[in-house]
Amino acid sequence: MSTGELVIEDLRAGIPGREILQGLSLTVRSGEVHAVMGPNGSGKSTLAHVLMGRPGYEVLGGSVTLDGIDLLALPTWQRARAGLFLAMQHPIEVPGVSLVESLTAARQTVPGGPFPDVLERLNAEAARISFDERFLDRSLNVDLSGGERKRNETLQLGVLRPRFAVLDEIDSGLDVDALADVGRRVQEATSEWGLGVLAITHFRRLLDVLRPDVVHVLSGGRVVATGGAELAEIVDRTGYAAYT
Ligand code: ADP
Ligand code: MG
Repeated sequence: MSTGELVIEDLRAGIPGREILQGLSLTVRSGEVHAVMGPNGSGKSTLAHVLMGRPGYEVLGGSVTLDGIDLLALPTWQRARAGLFLAMQHPIEVPGVSLVESLTAARQTVPGGPFPDVLERLNAEAARISFDERFLDRSLNVDLSGGERKRNETLQLGVLRPRFAVLDEIDSGLDVDALADVGRRVQEATSEWGLGVLAITHFRRLLDVLRPDVVHVLSGGRVVATGGAELAEIVDRTGYAAYT
């Protein structure tokens, strides 16, 4: 069982000429689910990109550590090796690379060393979220619908078993059944191996399945409110106006 913490302290970051995250702090411990909600343009995806080290974003101040390791000093692949995983809001197509090939390469980098049974895990995980096995041999995300791509991200999470996962609107594009499958799978991971989750979402519906321990509201690149699951319900009822 994984134990540890992902600590974001006073993070300031953006694109050249524009600071988007303006002093963001939060700490996720293993096994916890933190929801990050916030209006369009509040910096949620920027947070996800900066955590994973996407080119084009600059860090202007603050720190991000995983068990004391300075993630911001590492290239993306080493952040993944340290145990960080990103489910992208808009998963990209990678023609010519299958899911199996991608996971076989990625398993070299997971904490605890490579695991032998990629196909076994892949099939087991696909069954758990009702992911059609026809898609497993296809090029990564090519010709997949938005919802299928989100299931695909969840599948990769289940196979690689990272320590901390940032889920950028994993619920967008999912129908109700897929939402339940995906939410349940991630929730189970928190107790199965102590996955810590930063779940970026607009909607409370995901949080009915993936139960947040903590809810943060982001506005203008800062955390402006933090609370328990009840905060997501308040936001759902009253909108973000009170927090902007
Ligand atoms: P959210 O995910 O909360 O909707 P984003 O983090 O995507 O918000 O964006 C925050 C703000 O920063 C928006 O105004 C967006 O247009 C801007 N922004 C983010 N990334 C870029 C980029 N690569 N180039 C230009 N503007 C960007
Ligand atoms: Mg976004």
